[in-house]
Amino acid sequence: MSSHTVSTSLAVATLGTPRIGPRRELKSALESFWAGKSTEADLLKVAAALRAANWARQSARGVSVIPSNDFSLYDQVLDTSVMVGAIPEIYGWRGGPVSLATYFAMARGTQAEIAGHGCANGHHHGDSTPQGVPAQEMTKWFDTNYHYMVPEFSAGQSFQLASVKPLEEYREAKALGYDTRPVLLGPVTYLKLGKSADAGLDVLSLLPKLVPVYIEILGRLAAAGAKWVQLDEPALVLDLDDRERLAFRDAYGQIARELPHLDIMLTTYFGGLGDNLDTALALPIAGLHLDLVRAPKQINAVIAKGPKDLVLSLGVVDGRNIWRADLPDLLDRVEPIVQQRGAERVQLAPSCSLLHVPVDLELETGLDPDLKSWLSFSLQKMGELSTLSRALSGDRAAVQDQLSASAKAAATRRKSPKVHDMAVSSRAAAVTPAMTQRNSGFAARATLQHQRLQLPAFPTTTIGSFPQTAQIRQARAAHAKGAISDADYNTFLRGETARAIQWQEKVGLDVLVHGEFERNDMVQYFGEQLSGFAFTKEGWVQSYGSRCVRPPILFGDVSRPKPMTVGWWKYAQSLTGRPMKGMLTGPVTILNWSFVRDDVPRSTACLQIALAIRDEVGDLEQAGATMIQIDEAALREGLPLRRSEWKGYLDWAVECFRLCSSGVKDETQIHTHMCYSEFNDIIDAIAAMDADVISIETSRSKMELLDAFKTYKYPNEIGPGVYDIHSPRVPSVEEMTTLLQLARQRLSDGQLWVNPDCGLKTRGWDEVQGALVNMVEAARQIRQVS
Ligand code: GLN
Ligand code: ZN
Repeated sequence: MSSHTVSTSLAVATLGTPRIGPRRELKSALESFWAGKSTEADLLKVAAALRAANWARQSARGVSVIPSNDFSLYDQVLDTSVMVGAIPEIYGWRGGPVSLATYFAMARGTQAEIAGHGCANGHHHGDSTPQGVPAQEMTKWFDTNYHYMVPEFSAGQSFQLASVKPLEEYREAKALGYDTRPVLLGPVTYLKLGKSADAGLDVLSLLPKLVPVYIEILGRLAAAGAKWVQLDEPALVLDLDDRERLAFRDAYGQIARELPHLDIMLTTYFGGLGDNLDTALALPIAGLHLDLVRAPKQINAVIAKGPKDLVLSLGVVDGRNIWRADLPDLLDRVEPIVQQRGAERVQLAPSCSLLHVPVDLELETGLDPDLKSWLSFSLQKMGELSTLSRALSGDRAAVQDQLSASAKAAATRRKSPKVHDMAVSSRAAAVTPAMTQRNSGFAARATLQHQRLQLPAFPTTTIGSFPQTAQIRQARAAHAKGAISDADYNTFLRGETARAIQWQEKVGLDVLVHGEFERNDMVQYFGEQLSGFAFTKEGWVQSYGSRCVRPPILFGDVSRPKPMTVGWWKYAQSLTGRPMKGMLTGPVTILNWSFVRDDVPRSTACLQIALAIRDEVGDLEQAGATMIQIDEAALREGLPLRRSEWKGYLDWAVECFRLCSSGVKDETQIHTHMCYSEFNDIIDAIAAMDADVISIETSRSKMELLDAFKTYKYPNEIGPGVYDIHSPRVPSVEEMTTLLQLARQRLSDGQLWVNPDCGLKTRGWDEVQGALVNMVEAARQIRQVS
């Protein structure tokens, strides 16, 4: 392009931004409000300041299509439920404006409190929010680590515009000088994410009642001056049936008929449209956003088949990961599209909302400078997009420096010895099928293990962690700040470990754990000891509500410089004659809870972690461990959104688990643990993992999750959780014997172990004490009747 042609500059959109604030200001404000230490006005003031700062930062970084209503005090799906008045009766809402008390009751539940005491913060006098109501269910947002509040619909469900938050935030931005593009969760995805409280109610059948509410709010946005709105419909990247596809046609057809002058940017993300492409292209929309990071090739089909005047929003910068883009490379990809469509019909964007990446890389002062030069957080990604836009708008010379810097970073990363370790890649290349195979089949191993371990029937154990008390957290924080010496901290942790072990012996558990007091987090603890991982100081990403996580960054080839857990295991085992489980986090879980490098396939990165864990398993066995547990809490979470891709993922995930666990002798017992998951559709993969013992979360399903194992005739041993560790309630002996009897109806006595649903780190000692005493008694009673 010649530099004197004044061409339209390409629009840059963010689709949505992190709302927690660069220093987690929203978290502090929320938690202070919930604790009754600040008022509603204080909270709302912080929220408004965060929005204003967010708009200002986007504008300063050249974002031209700035979103509004991407902010939320808790969750955008909850906001949508509140907007359309889908507020279950138990929350006591009787129409009219929805109070913050109702909103937070849906998000967090309310305490059952002494009559007359009211809300903890005392600012909602006169509010009718009932006490002791549970929060709405929470679940994962597609395949991210963000959790949303599941909408709940009843048979007589009606909708009404109960909150005009999108309008308020649009006007708020306008008053500050930003003409924004409001973002709303689209009606079809919204319904599809919901569940029905009444059996037989098909949530999609509610669409005709819901769409008028959308039309009302969209109409008001248009009247207030919004030219465009962004409707998020990520459900379009899922496997859909014809009825669901029809629902899109109906909903958008109706909206377009009622609001012919409002331009809709329909956003799809977290994958390609695939077989829903024709559905999307047939909708009466003005713009379509495509995830071109996960599905780069779909652009060709969209250009070939789509209407010529459709505005294409190209999601070319990764909104799910923290890597810096290679801008000259992107430029080559985008330029032909711009030339073909015309600049006014192309927008540049991240693949999805920037909600899923940390706010600002500049806050990281401790990162290796090379690594830092390869990264990009939300603010940097905005900068990358606007550099691209300027380069494509005939201003290439002005951004030449940025382009060169980007290319240079990409080149250093490709060659850096910090990323590439020949020893690791050659070891990975030398992995043989025999390495993923135990010496003997399960039956032969089990015989040897039983002879060696001499455990009673229905052996009792726990999942690994014991309460992380305030005292432990304080000691860890003090140690991290340097206020406690390594030696003192170690002595303290040894004391805690010793007490936990004595306590388990006293209660009468058969297989003990050391308690995991030395671990900050089950992934971070290992990441910090492996090479190839880095950690940020402020790289927080919202997980749900005020909760944030700081995922490790897996940037290079993984190796284990030295044993990670052997010292702690040895110490723990030295204190007891009972078997002490070695306790590790599995490769798939470490991978799924990290930001993972994008220069090799995920399977390659996972295989490297598996080799490192395999070494640790070997060292534990060498040190004398008779049982080693390798947790794969996040195995199911990693399933791709499309069914057709499940097998590919499960194949390598199972292979990696087998690789890390198969290097031991037959008599060494391998355990694994998985959190709440549906097992029916992945039971083959679970069986293929071939762990000698698997503990799973089952208590809330009344052991129904074991049906999959029964039908499959699953042969190995299983510890179905006999009590829910998420609740502070201490279960009775009888509740647990009842559950064990239900388990016995599905599995043979010789297969069963007795344990809680998950680790106990979030519980208090008094709860744990009561529950485990009862659990051991329940096992004793079952042994007598069996
Ligand atoms: N061993 C871990 C613990 O007990 C397992 C945690 C998990 O499954 N999330 O804490
Ligand atoms: Zn668990």
